Amino acid sequence: MSSTMSIDVSETLGDLPQSDPTGRAAGSSPFAAQLEAVFESVRKSHPDTDFEVLRRAYATAERCHQNQERASGEPYIVHPLAVAKIVADLGMNEPTIVAALLHDTVEDTAYTLEQVAAEFSAEVAHLVDGVTKLDKSLYGDLAKAETIRKIIVAMFQDIRVVVIKLADRLHNMRTISSLRPDKQNRIAKETLDIYAPLAHRLGMNTVKWELEDLSFSTLQPKIYNQIVQQVAAEQPAREKNLQEIIPVAVSALGERGITAKVYGRPKHYYSIYQKMVVRGRDFTEIFDLLGIRVIVENEQECYLALAVVHSLWQPLPGRFKDYIVNPKYSTYQSLHTTVVGPQGKPVEFQIRTREMHRNAEYGVAAHWKYKKNPTGKKHGSARLDPMDLLWVKRLSQWQSEESDPSVFLDYLTTDLASREVMVFSPNSDLYFLPEGATPVDFAYSIHTEVGHHCIGARLNGKLVRLDTVLRDGDVCEILTTKSPEVGPSRDWLDFVKSPRARQKINQFFSKERRDLSIEMGKESLAKQLRHSGLPLQRILTLPYLTAVASKLRYADVPALYAALGEGKVGAQRVVDQLIALEGGKENAAEESYEDRPVFEVKRRNVETSASGVAVEGDPDVLVKLARCCTPVPGDDIIGFVTRSQGVSVHRRDCHNVQDLLATPERIVNVAWMANTRANYLVTISIEGLDRMGLLADVTAALSEDKVSIISAQVQVMKDHTWHMNLSFEIPDPSFLNQVIKKVKAVREVTEVRRVSA
Ligand code: MN
Repeated sequence: MSSTMSIDVSETLGDLPQSDPTGRAAGSSPFAAQLEAVFESVRKSHPDTDFEVLRRAYATAERCHQNQERASGEPYIVHPLAVAKIVADLGMNEPTIVAALLHDTVEDTAYTLEQVAAEFSAEVAHLVDGVTKLDKSLYGDLAKAETIRKIIVAMFQDIRVVVIKLADRLHNMRTISSLRPDKQNRIAKETLDIYAPLAHRLGMNTVKWELEDLSFSTLQPKIYNQIVQQVAAEQPAREKNLQEIIPVAVSALGERGITAKVYGRPKHYYSIYQKMVVRGRDFTEIFDLLGIRVIVENEQECYLALAVVHSLWQPLPGRFKDYIVNPKYSTYQSLHTTVVGPQGKPVEFQIRTREMHRNAEYGVAAHWKYKKNPTGKKHGSARLDPMDLLWVKRLSQWQSEESDPSVFLDYLTTDLASREVMVFSPNSDLYFLPEGATPVDFAYSIHTEVGHHCIGARLNGKLVRLDTVLRDGDVCEILTTKSPEVGPSRDWLDFVKSPRARQKINQFFSKERRDLSIEMGKESLAKQLRHSGLPLQRILTLPYLTAVASKLRYADVPALYAALGEGKVGAQRVVDQLIALEGGKENAAEESYEDRPVFEVKRRNVETSASGVAVEGDPDVLVKLARCCTPVPGDDIIGFVTRSQGVSVHRRDCHNVQDLLATPERIVNVAWMANTRANYLVTISIEGLDRMGLLADVTAALSEDKVSIISAQVQVMKDHTWHMNLSFEIPDPSFLNQVIKKVKAVREVTEVRRVSA
């Protein structure tokens, strides 16, 4: 890209010689050699570059940073120069190199983004902006989270922002020894948590390995040195083993007409350490596994070479992976197989073409380096759309849903840390999920609502449990329900692997927890009022409750109930406030028993016309069951003659009985009548997806409400759906909605409906 504005070149070039059409940078600048090295590297990948622009960018950077020093005491310009060199070596072209040279000007000098745009281009300004810290006034974890989020968001539009940032971090890591030890540790840790995995996800493995080994040697110098020594000590034995395999492979491949480059894969110290620590292997075991790489000419030869390797040595089952058909992280292509080599030792082969190999080393950066390659199918487009990378797309979706930068950073870090499995949707969209992920993780990676309403899953066409671990290549279909009553299950938290699924489930329950607290608050207040012998209906009014809520400084009545439910305010305290509003205890308690709402036995008898309770001496008197203790047939009961509404029946152990006994003349003997069916008989129809334990879960949900099941008929249909007619008794019809709600909340239940009145 050439610059379009006219500026006085001689002014910005400083000490540098005037334009040189050959792209030579040599001159009197103390860093002419370093600049020439950058040019040399650019020339290799992009010979027709406008070196004039690069020279101008260098001059601008040198001028801006002229009085600045690095921690090492060197002039600051060595840093942007080194970053430009790394970016050039990765194969990036002119705008990215210009941005690399200028990457710290806006952050650390008076130079502005507007100047970058005017003197270079909007494209370069956009890249520089992407790597510039968000707000210099922010400090600590929040600043870190915000800055990383900013880089990631910039990456969604232009992947080159991350390429520059990674090069910047790489040079800072190479020179980290001049920093204070505490700073070294912080930066190395951040590199290991975020930047190295980021490089890995973008396929930039050369950068990843170096970042890892540099961080590792900073954080754990002793262990690092130990591993370096052990690797050196093992080297002769490794060479010997390689010589038993490589010539055999080369000649067998040659017989099939394949000219291949076959060599032992280099070891990376940090990955050895990870295998030892994370996966608990010991050093000999790690060294027993030989890694061999086979580079061939074309894709067809990859599969031919695989066949040759498998004919020479016995392949280990389950270890073959075809990343040519299913590229990992959208960039990595290779065939992997492990065979039983000489002396029974496992040997892992990675077979790939030259182009695949470049992609494996440089990842997304290879797009710029080789985009002119006429044979490269993947690199035909002029611009790499970051959304072509599934991982970037997924991240972008999460980012748009999550406003809290530290929560997003959490997603990012966990996502970066996990190994992945590839799972397909039924219409062949590919998803990468953390290793060990389940259909629930898959559902949440599609959409939060799909996760919340997930009731089952088909894996490769078969219905499976929601905690089934997904494997590479599985086709997963999520079954959802439209029922608003169905939500995630708490059990899911025991097996989900993705931070996003975990977060969304927790969010759902924190809302539900509040609803539950409100319910509990209501219950405890009602209980306390009854205990005080106060009339609920007269006292529990919205105006009274609102008054108490505001007196106790709660936003509204639900907030008051929630506080009660969570035990933040005592029920007695609220009762005292309510009594005060009613004008004192005497007023409040007056006629309390008469006011107490009770059930009429007649109302409760649906199946039989007989009244439930007989009153001694007066069989026709109106009988009500007291709500304070809700006596049921079989309870030891006592009658109390109310002033206006007949006899109210309490359990003998009811806490109000003591008060009632104070007026013994109003006590009457009562008894349950024989064959009393003082309950409602209800039948509901339940539909769902068949799974183990479903009936048990449904009955467990019912038993929580002390519902007694009378009959159940279950039918499993051919399509794996499940129908049940359930008849049970409930003490009050108002319980029915609650029961239905509970049954609907059981996992895999799709429909609950009342059948008979
Ligand atoms: Mn920098």
